[in-house]
Amino acid sequence: MTITTAQSVVNHWIDGGPYESTSGRTADVFDPALGTATKKVALADKAEIDAAVASAKAAQPAWGSLSLARRQNVLFKFRELLEARKPELAEIITAEHGKVLSDALGEISRGQEVVEFACGLSEHLKGEYSEQVSTGVDVFSTRQPLGVVGIISPFNFPAMVPAWFFPIAIAAGNAVILKPSEKDPSASIWVAELWKEAGLPDGIFTVLNGDKEAVDGLLEHPDVAAVSFVGSTPIAQYVYEQGAKFGKRVQALGGAKNHMLVLPDADLELAADAAINAGFGSAGERCMAISVIVAVEPVADALIEKITDRMANLRVGDGRRGSDMGPLVTQAHRDKVASYIDIAVEDGATVVVDGRDVQPDGDPSGFWLGPTLIDQVPVTSRVYTEEIFGPVLAIVRVSNYEDGVELINDGAFGNGTAIFTNDGGAARRFQREIAVGMIGVNVPIPVPVATFSFGGWKASMFGDTKAHGAEGVKFFTQLKAITTRWPDPADRAAHGGINLGF
Ligand code: NAD
Repeated sequence: MTITTAQSVVNHWIDGGPYESTSGRTADVFDPALGTATKKVALADKAEIDAAVASAKAAQPAWGSLSLARRQNVLFKFRELLEARKPELAEIITAEHGKVLSDALGEISRGQEVVEFACGLSEHLKGEYSEQVSTGVDVFSTRQPLGVVGIISPFNFPAMVPAWFFPIAIAAGNAVILKPSEKDPSASIWVAELWKEAGLPDGIFTVLNGDKEAVDGLLEHPDVAAVSFVGSTPIAQYVYEQGAKFGKRVQALGGAKNHMLVLPDADLELAADAAINAGFGSAGERCMAISVIVAVEPVADALIEKITDRMANLRVGDGRRGSDMGPLVTQAHRDKVASYIDIAVEDGATVVVDGRDVQPDGDPSGFWLGPTLIDQVPVTSRVYTEEIFGPVLAIVRVSNYEDGVELINDGAFGNGTAIFTNDGGAARRFQREIAVGMIGVNVPIPVPVATFSFGGWKASMFGDTKAHGAEGVKFFTQLKAITTRWPDPADRAAHGGINLGF
């Protein structure tokens, strides 16, 4: 690993412009395909957290009381700029995350869907009205902004995950402080510049770079009303508990271990394609990646043959060179993921394809690990029980549908799962019986479109309001109920009031 000198520093974005950190703390940002630290990122201290929150707090009331139509106009403009310039953002993502350019463009498009949803927020902010609930009394409800809201995001989707939240939060009239992952912070600064160009008032979209200190600062700050968090399960649980302690509304999405149940009647070509895309796309660094195939016998051998045939054709390399799969995000993460291959061997599993043998099309110093397939994984092995978050696909063989469902439901996580079958009745049973938040039927990565809501069950999510769709609108607004009594003018006249001629 080489460290370049004279690195640029990714600073904060506060009050509508770059904000130079004086904390004296930074972290390295790597280009994972080169294995080189190319930049540093500022790590906020208390003074910078306070400056970010103060700016957001000062800007929010004017934005929150601007007409919905004018707020939506800024969203439309932002959407047009994003659509026109997303290749720039994709390059930034690939240079810091490592995913191939097509994956980077894909995540931007999924984030853009939420921007498009938020362009029509007026439809979702319509309140309720009940007339004459008592004599002369009507009740109606409105949804109002919360104020300043925090978004804390993980490294694996530097554009899409923040975009699950900020378009709705902003359109609803809040001021957003985004604390991106310190591993790939530049995408957020690019997005901040785009908001500025779209005409968003200064202070409504802030980027606060940092680590645990910035997260704790936001969680403890009395002027932050809500926090949306996405990351690993232990930190999600911590953020949920800590946020609640400081009286905040919190949605905290955690880690995952997603299973794909393949029934004997499934289309095995389709299932093998799905396993490749969902297991190795973005180098397996997706919270909706498939990491375990549960093969209902006698399907396993035929399925493994089709998957290994496809794996042989996967091109691993620098994401800017048209490869299918890029490197892992850091050397430490690459080594941790690779260590599970040794664990598999120790636990008696069969390593069918070992990704440590990969010959990448890229700099040898990159954080490379090729696609790995492990059969006969014992369900007691850490390869099965832990989230690996890399290109390691495990196979567990079961003898029937019921055993497969029991296995999946016994898992600690409940983010996503999929069934592959041609039997509609079996699929219907699965969608009813499985204890998982997002389910695919012959769809391996069932990320719901923006009009629906995203979120898992069990250890994959803390809090009861999911991301985007109607749940997102609910999260970023507070409900107000108004009960009114307006005496009839005729009655007022009878009591000597103003006679309006009724
Ligand atoms: P992470 O938990 O290490 O970091 C997430 C965020 O928390 C970052 O902004 C980081 O700076 C901050 N953070 C890290 N340690 C902290 C601490 N001790 N205290 C306070 N804040 C801390 O996660 P990651 O490695 O960046 O991302 C990968 C994880 O995110 C995986 O577990 C993946 O499954 C999960 N993820 C989940 C979803 C979902 O929708 N459920 C989506 C994407 C990623």
